[in-house]
Amino acid sequence: NDKRLYSPKYVRQILDKHGFKFSKSLGQNFLIDGNILRKISQGANIIKDDYVLEIGPGIGTLTEELALNAKKVVAIELDQNLLPILEETLEDYSNVEIIHGDILKVDVNKLIEEKLGGGPIKVVANLPYYVTTPILAKLIEEDYNIESITVMIQKEVAQRIVASPGNKQYGSITVFMNFYTEPEILMNVPKTVFMPQPKVDSAVIRLKIRKELPQVDRNTFFQVVKLAFNKRRKTILNALSSNPWGLDKEGIKAVLEKAQISLEERAENLKIEDFIKISETLPSLDI
Ligand code: SAM
Repeated sequence: NDKRLYSPKYVRQILDKHGFKFSKSLGQNFLIDGNILRKISQGANIIKDDYVLEIGPGIGTLTEELALNAKKVVAIELDQNLLPILEETLEDYSNVEIIHGDILKVDVNKLIEEKLGGGPIKVVANLPYYVTTPILAKLIEEDYNIESITVMIQKEVAQRIVASPGNKQYGSITVFMNFYTEPEILMNVPKTVFMPQPKVDSAVIRLKIRKELPQVDRNTFFQVVKLAFNKRRKTILNALSSNPWGLDKEGIKAVLEKAQISLEERAENLKIEDFIKISETLPSLDI
């Protein structure tokens, strides 16, 4: 369909017209496949009532797909050189608003209040891979009024996010993401749907934000997780033995016994509930 933005011929044409050069350091790999665009929008369950926040619209191929399905799309683009292009490619869509800025610096609460109907909103993006983790961390930690996040990311990162305990890919990012969200890989995506093609494989993942989080002191919890996975080859007893709580090995042993965690266990075999049990036992210990 030549009328849609994603046709490779049109993409090349518009980029040439504006003398646009891809920036590797901004993670610019644009989608040029209508099928994938449709599947991303469908996977995010975008319907006519939805307010959508997009991160990094590029030349607007995904933005267009979202605009056709949602009530309104607000898209944050960091690269100034893309602004005149987006103005042209999306001029027919009155329900799209482009904002020049860095998603890591944007006041998301204000954005949701002022431009996205107050929420709950859906976030959809083909993320710049160099900042995947900081962007996801910001969006899920801050308690914004977000319902779900559906994003294209590096396949390997997606696999780490959904990994099960006992798996080599299971790590602190798994625990972090599962603490705040219910993650699900929707599909793997071949390199050929991008221009230019990235070096790594990609996948689309949907993170459903949990409405109720475990009742645990989050600082302590994530300290425990970090210490445990920093030394993932050691037993949990040894991994936690140098710690910020002033506990010696005997102290940690007492904590683990009270939490009913085997001293010989390794971080990669511990479930979220196990890390919660350890965290809850820590401050209640009378040392
Ligand atoms: N959505 C487009 C598509 O699918 O064709 C472009 C995706 S491309 C992988 C990532 C986009 O994010 C680029 O347009 C890049 O300029 C933009 N970007 C990079 N860092 C950003 C940041 N910190 N905030 C907002 N946008 C950013």
